[in-house]
Amino acid sequence: MADLGNFTNTSEILRKYQFRMQKKYGQNFLIDANILNKIVEAAQVTKEDSVLEIGPGIGTMTQYLAEAAKRVTAVEIDRGLIPILEDTMSSYDNVTILCEDILKTDFSALAKENGGCPFKVVANLPYYITTPIIMALFESRMPLTSITVMVQSEVAERMQTGPGTKDYGALSLAVQYYAKPEIVARVPASCFLPRPNVDSTVVRLTRYEKPPVAAQDEAFLFALIRASFNQRRKTLANGLANAGGLGVTRKQVETVLEKMGLPLTVRGETFTLEQFAVLSNFLLQTGN
Ligand code: SAM
Repeated sequence: MADLGNFTNTSEILRKYQFRMQKKYGQNFLIDANILNKIVEAAQVTKEDSVLEIGPGIGTMTQYLAEAAKRVTAVEIDRGLIPILEDTMSSYDNVTILCEDILKTDFSALAKENGGCPFKVVANLPYYITTPIIMALFESRMPLTSITVMVQSEVAERMQTGPGTKDYGALSLAVQYYAKPEIVARVPASCFLPRPNVDSTVVRLTRYEKPPVAAQDEAFLFALIRASFNQRRKTLANGLANAGGLGVTRKQVETVLEKMGLPLTVRGETFTLEQFAVLSNFLLQTGN
């Protein structure tokens, strides 16, 4: 099969199968070999690695990954792409295509099938579900060493920013709890077919063996973070006391803020990951 990483060969496959791209699935196929090579290189894929690709499309990046990796498992939601993938992947015996929604994928079954070895996740993500996919991957029990993905530039900024910027939020804190984020490349719209109307960036998230902060209860830490950013304009004490389901009173939050030497008017958007971890651990103690 010819290299699909260019306009001519991609158009030919689309014509051959009379495939109509679906906007609802975020279908913007890569047609630039330089960017494809850069992504695989940034993901540091070797012949020892098992790769999980999300949304293979017609198999463009899958070709590059199949050449570089030991094996590739590619999860594609669109049934219409399966016959195309069977064709474009026919010369590779190290590629498994699963036709399913990545948000419904049983990650523990995937891990089991891979003999418990960690995956490297590599993808040109469908932008409409970037955050749920990243969160599902991190929160799953699946062993993974890194996630190298094309995302909307704005989302890449949110992943790596800190307190005091407008982009800082629950996604920044979640990503930075699990991984070290690094920008790999800015990608112009001309590298896709069709061209997306947003800017794109490749980001690599290298998973920490151990999170950089010690939280006694991860679920509570993330519930606190979400509640703080849901009520961004309120002080932390008011925001958390108003959040249903947390079981935290305004008085408890104020007591902990005093212990931390912080003003009672402080807002969650100024909190670092470490401060959220301290807050959550203190609140758990106060609750007991
Ligand atoms: N990897 C191809 C490339 O780079 O040319 C296609 C990338 S395209 C941006 C996103 C792909 O994700 C599409 O093939 C789309 O059908 C697929 N997709 C969208 N939603 C999905 C989901 N929930 N689960 C799995 N695949 C999905």
